[in-house]
Amino acid sequence: MFPFVAAAIRRLNEAGLPVIIVTNQSGVGRGYFPESLVHTVNELMTEQLSMGRAKIDAIYYCPHTSAEDCNCRKPKTGMLDRAAQEHALDLRRSFVVGDRYGDVELARNASARSILVRTGYGEGELAWHAAKWPVQPDFVAEDLAQAADWILRQHK
Ligand SMILES: [Zn+2]
Repeated sequence: MFPFVAAAIRRLNEAGLPVIIVTNQSGVGRGYFPESLVHTVNELMTEQLSMGRAKIDAIYYCPHTSAEDCNCRKPKTGMLDRAAQEHALDLRRSFVVGDRYGDVELARNASARSILVRTGYGEGELAWHAAKWPVQPDFVAEDLAQAADWILRQHK
């Protein structure tokens, strides 16, 4: 985990914004790793964040492969719809932060705003693919810290 992640999430926590993780984990459906590993990784992540006094309100993951045609695999909105119901969120006032084009599509599909971070796959996505994307991110951030800055500015 990048060192600035906990501080960025903590600032969102302090502003009273729910922070929720939605992740595709098709490695489960493909049999690459057991579902229990997803839980172990989530626990480690939660633990590390709590050491930085940051809190994740919920984690949703899709264990399916694209062939299973579920309604939760990003960029489908199943996980966001569930998060919206369970945490009383207005998706139109929510932000999707991610490093893949699928996250930009997800935001569009859910009528949320999208932020693409340059960390992870983001830089490569921008360099090699962004020119042909039919949907562009609402904001491109260097990292999660800058994404949090932008969210907090929009939220005011
Ligand atoms: Zn799924």
